[in-house]
Amino acid sequence: MRPKQSRTAKRPRGAERPFPWLCRHCGKREVALAKTNYAAEVRHDGRLHAFTIADLELPVCQACGERVFTEDVDAQFNDALRAHLNLLTPAQIRDAITRVGMSQKDLTKCLGIAEATLSRWLGEVQIQSRSMDNLLRIFFGFPEVRKSLCGSSQVPHLGLSDIAQTSSSRQRRKPRHSGSTTGSTWPVDWNGKRSACRQVHKIVDSTGSAWGTRKVG
Ligand SMILES: [Zn+2]
Repeated sequence: MRPKQSRTAKRPRGAERPFPWLCRHCGKREVALAKTNYAAEVRHDGRLHAFTIADLELPVCQACGERVFTEDVDAQFNDALRAHLNLLTPAQIRDAITRVGMSQKDLTKCLGIAEATLSRWLGEVQIQSRSMDNLLRIFFGFPEVRKSLCGSSQVPHLGLSDIAQTSSSRQRRKPRHSGSTTGSTWPVDWNGKRSACRQVHKIVDSTGSAWGTRKVG
């Protein structure tokens, strides 16, 4: 884990002096950039995450072993933490915003977050929480979610019950074997088997027929 005294050695990224540097611990000009596999422990989202950062570029004193933690090292920690937790990178968030054709300001309104928060994520100052990352992924991944959460089209009852199946999604979920009248061959959807079975019974009840024997249109 990074020692706390490292905070005093921070410099702006890309503004490093050429090596070797003077060591603050032993006073020798022996600090040089070294690559190391670093066992990191980083607190994020209220939890401590332990993982190894491969080939961390870290200034180390060749005389006494003192390690110097800079902004560049911080950035490597953040990149490794994002990869370890599978969180969206700032570049991926930017690309997604562009792809869905929204401004950053509109995105913050739809998500109910401060513009400064999004700026910190995009500026690599702060890493989004797991829950916010999940929201971003769902928001960017499903046009229906964007429609439901944004502006005048916001759905007031969203989340109070399951969203009704659309005809296109019903077609995708036809049983594999035509003629089957039970839920046994019903593909398990992301809500799990029980909800799928409920859906079958609902559809059978409302149509008086069964999947595989009625035409889906
Ligand atoms: Zn030293």
